[in-house]
Amino acid sequence: MGDVRPSRRSPVPDKACIEAVELARSSAAEIGRPEWVGEHLTPHVEDTRLVTHYFTCLDPSYPGWNYAVTVVRAARAKRVTVNEAVLLPGEGALVAPEWLPWKDRLRPGDLGVGDLLPTEEDDERLVPGHAQVPGNELEDEGTDRQMLWEPGLGRRQVLSETGRERAAERWYNGDAGPYSPIAAAAPARCATCGFMTPLAGGLRQMFGVCANEYAPDDGKVVSLDHGCGAHSEVRRPEARSEPVGPVIDEMGYDHIVFDDTAELELISSDS
Ligand code: SF4
Repeated sequence: MGDVRPSRRSPVPDKACIEAVELARSSAAEIGRPEWVGEHLTPHVEDTRLVTHYFTCLDPSYPGWNYAVTVVRAARAKRVTVNEAVLLPGEGALVAPEWLPWKDRLRPGDLGVGDLLPTEEDDERLVPGHAQVPGNELEDEGTDRQMLWEPGLGRRQVLSETGRERAAERWYNGDAGPYSPIAAAAPARCATCGFMTPLAGGLRQMFGVCANEYAPDDGKVVSLDHGCGAHSEVRRPEARSEPVGPVIDEMGYDHIVFDDTAELELISSDS
């Protein structure tokens, strides 16, 4: 059998509703101002005895928007009444960007004091740890707690390989990596610096923490091939004990003007 649903015919335009332009205009003026209600646009027949009238909005704060006023006439009634009056965006209207869930909007640095950022249960940066280690085993004085804690013993979740890779990529390509201007100008690398404290776990092969209070990266993770001028092996230049000999000025110059009638004239760049 074919589709038995009744087909919906186009509604018949209601003359009284179509002609209720001034009623619709006065209603639009009520939600804005009379001088903001502009040209009347083509009405739209919504249903039987239900028509929406559109007017361009002249409010300078809403370029491209239109007032939309829906009027209705009850069956066998003569009077047309206003059903709804709203402001709607038209073509080219300035509208707010599409709504995004908060987790897609969040950017690094957005978290403020006292804010809470719940972690998703399926966060790919985390994997289950070994939380089932008995608590008293961790409390036990004879247990090397650091040795248990590093691989994730006693923690419900630990950093996954994805989490590690993402962090390493971010840190390495950031200001504390080898490509920053300060690293390019450094006399030596963090790998040989006494102020560099290696990280624990797999990340220790590439990163450490700078513990030099005079370095710009003090307290931050630095890559082993990062560096700065506060490297622990930098030494004060030796004071010269011998008198300095004649020095040739390679920056200044003398401008010599010469012609047949005048005498040789010497103009120094310092004059
Ligand atoms: S002082 Fe400079 S070279 Fe040393 S660890 Fe810190 S950033 Fe690296």
